[in-house]
Amino acid sequence: ASFSGGNNQNSATLTAHKKLCSGSDTAKGKVGKGIGISTTWFGKYKARRTAKAKKVYTKIKSGLTKTAVTYYNNGPDCEPNEYAYVWSNIKDTVYLCNLYYNIQTSCSKTKESKEGTLLHEWSHSFAGTKDIEYGRTDCKNLAKKKPSKAVKNADSYAYHYCDAQ
Ligand SMILES: [Zn+2]
Repeated sequence: ASFSGGNNQNSATLTAHKKLCSGSDTAKGKVGKGIGISTTWFGKYKARRTAKAKKVYTKIKSGLTKTAVTYYNNGPDCEPNEYAYVWSNIKDTVYLCNLYYNIQTSCSKTKESKEGTLLHEWSHSFAGTKDIEYGRTDCKNLAKKKPSKAVKNADSYAYHYCDAQ
């Protein structure tokens, strides 16, 4: 990974980044029938949804493996109180924003993290996920009420991924 926009906790970002490939494998192994965190974030078991979620993790890993990625510090289009963003036509860059610099590096099961944030953003770039709901509470509700949307929702992957580590 390389960096633009100078140094703002680059070593922490690199630490988080380096976990994403093996972490995606770990998370992929924890999607499916009878797995609590799979039900929590992706809803009641259905073969089609399990296949979809596994594919997302496969695509994230393969995208990260094949792509020379850039982390852009203090992204020029950051909104106030944003963690990070990507552009759909720029697949190799994640833009980091103010909130990102205030959260812990590695995954947490209760808090936000750099690792989970990067996973969220790369799920957009490499697997075409959407932002349907944000935050643990709303994502859990989405899994219960609209599981077919949960398997398309970036934050659902960030939380499932972190719970799987
Ligand atoms: Zn997003």
